[in-house]
Amino acid sequence: MLRTEDPTLGDTGQVSAYTPCREQVPIDIAIVGGGIGGLALSIGLQQYGHVRVKIYEAASKFSEIGAGVFFGANSIRAMTLIHPAIGEAFAKISTSAVWESKRDTYFDFILAHELHGLPAGTHIISPQVTASEQHSTAHRAHFVDELIKLVPDGTVGFGKRLADISRDEGRGKTIMKFADGSTAEADAVIGCDGIRSVCRDFVLGKNNPLSQPVFTGKHAYRGLIPMDKAIAAIGAEKAQNRFMFLGVSGHVLVFPVAEGQVMNVVAFSTTKSGTWEGEGVKPMKREDMDADFEGFGEDCQKIFSLMENTDHWGIFDLSPDIPTFSSRPLHLLLLGDSAHACAPHQGAGAGQALEDAHILSHILGACRSPSDVLAAFGAFESVRMPRTKVVQKYGRLQGELLDLQRPDVGDDLEKLKAIIDVPIREIWNCDLGAELEKAQAVMRRKLAESAHTYALLTTSTTRVITMPYIAHISLIVRDYDEAIAFYSRLGFTVVEDTFVPEQQKRWVVIQPPLSPSQPTSTSAVPESATHRPSSASSQGATILLARASNPEQEAFIGNQAGGRVFLFLGTDDFDRDYKRFSDAGVEWVRPPKVEAYGKVAVWKDLYGNLWDLIQHY
Ligand SMILES: Cc1cc2nc3c(=O)[nH]c(=O)nc-3n(C[C@H](O)[C@H](O)[C@H](O)COP(=O)(O)OP(=O)(O)OC[C@H]3O[C@@H](n4cnc5c(N)ncnc54)[C@H](O)[C@@H]3O)c2cc1C
Repeated sequence: MLRTEDPTLGDTGQVSAYTPCREQVPIDIAIVGGGIGGLALSIGLQQYGHVRVKIYEAASKFSEIGAGVFFGANSIRAMTLIHPAIGEAFAKISTSAVWESKRDTYFDFILAHELHGLPAGTHIISPQVTASEQHSTAHRAHFVDELIKLVPDGTVGFGKRLADISRDEGRGKTIMKFADGSTAEADAVIGCDGIRSVCRDFVLGKNNPLSQPVFTGKHAYRGLIPMDKAIAAIGAEKAQNRFMFLGVSGHVLVFPVAEGQVMNVVAFSTTKSGTWEGEGVKPMKREDMDADFEGFGEDCQKIFSLMENTDHWGIFDLSPDIPTFSSRPLHLLLLGDSAHACAPHQGAGAGQALEDAHILSHILGACRSPSDVLAAFGAFESVRMPRTKVVQKYGRLQGELLDLQRPDVGDDLEKLKAIIDVPIREIWNCDLGAELEKAQAVMRRKLAESAHTYALLTTSTTRVITMPYIAHISLIVRDYDEAIAFYSRLGFTVVEDTFVPEQQKRWVVIQPPLSPSQPTSTSAVPESATHRPSSASSQGATILLARASNPEQEAFIGNQAGGRVFLFLGTDDFDRDYKRFSDAGVEWVRPPKVEAYGKVAVWKDLYGNLWDLIQHY
């Protein structure tokens, strides 16, 4: 077992704010897929003794493709933040530019063929990196071999191709069924099963178009060439350092791996048809490659001539519009390419899987029991969804830019020079410690909210206990996000926002603002309480924002009570909330009035439904 002194220490050196106010209960986490993302997550989780991890891998043994991989500064920082041992392992096998003078050069960009009267090989730009932007490259298999050494024996089940997932709510377990007929269970499952993820079908729905990988229009030939042959072909400067040959509708990149003994090549091209037939990866055909790079200069042709029996990859990504990475009913979360595969033109995909593993390992590790896991999922998504969407968007744009086809740039080399390294620097310079802190804050809030709801349901002793109680009230809305925005302004909080794939809807539950006098910390949760008193119906009911899905339902938007007051919002401090709502721009239909039973005013929500704000005496 790998243990660090304090695994909750972030970039900032601050200790996590989670307070061990409840005893830790073992949490069983299943990881589906033992690629870079799954392995890194399992290593990160080892630091938390109460989290028990098992990896289920489809292949019969660990194997990685014979190719190089580029890791930007963010990816390398993420390794150490997941676990210092990963950073140390990577340092052993990573390769920088061989020439000392090229260490700070991102890539030397040169012309792949003659353009605008400039000959092939003309230098375009060599962006320099700062000390905090240092990056390096590795042979993928060497990196994965190092990761495997950090995973304890017995953690991985091989030959376990996930086929089905279900949840036994009674026992609180997610059940995995594998293609070999065997089953396994866990408190929660993390789907690290790559771009063609089976787990994603269970999160988004099998027939959801968003679950399908999207062909980007690009394809690539990947190969490894012994360094002595590469030097003989294109010279030491280009073979031993990072070079990118830019051409119209294709680009070729080379960098050294395996301590400079091997030159990695990726030759990208744009398909004319815009489609990709057959397997995602197939053996290369020499005549296809010749046709794709016709007109490319001598250096590129020499490189191609040394690429024997290499693979030909269709380049796919996922839509950045995927609405969620998790299925809360199944306690299933996606990580890495299964959640946000991106086009590889910035060498950032595996790095994003590592960033995921950094955030998720530490917030899952902070869970005290399986019941905290959904809060961790929500916290993970709150920081990882926006970040990975940006990387996905830039991935595609960069492919167009490097193929001299970006509509606003084309083959204008001056425009290209101005932006070629802008997006990648944004990716490199992410403060991963701050991202973890953001996720931790969201998690604390979610745990506090659920503790508050739980406390409301369990602490009242003054009322008669009734069962069943009112759990949610439907409020018909036109659009989830506009309704969330309106109610958030009033201090309502989102308790749950889950995509329901079968219905192509979201399950959005909000609750009224917490009173400052009400409990906000998990320590307020009474562990012994086992029943729900009637206060649940008067204080604890939450509001389900139900989006109208046909004209009949739309007719009720804003008029659910036929012009009468629809909902009664009780408060312990009328004046405080009257001011708060007024400041938020609420329209008052009836001004505050003192009645025999209490103080009351009537307000309108964004659709016109009438609400009482009422403080009973
Ligand atoms: C041409 C190309 C070049 C790239 N270059 C770079 C680069 O330089 N830098 C970079 O950061 N990224 C790069 N990437 C992206 C990078 O390869 C991926 O982002 C990364 O491998 C994702 O890791 P992962 O663990 O999420 O998924 P994967 O590496 O795909 O691992 C998924 C694992 O899940 C297993 N699995 C699949 N289905 C099942 C199932 N049903 N049940 C159980 N197990 C299953 C698989 O066997 C595999 O072991 C490149 C991608 C391409 C296509």
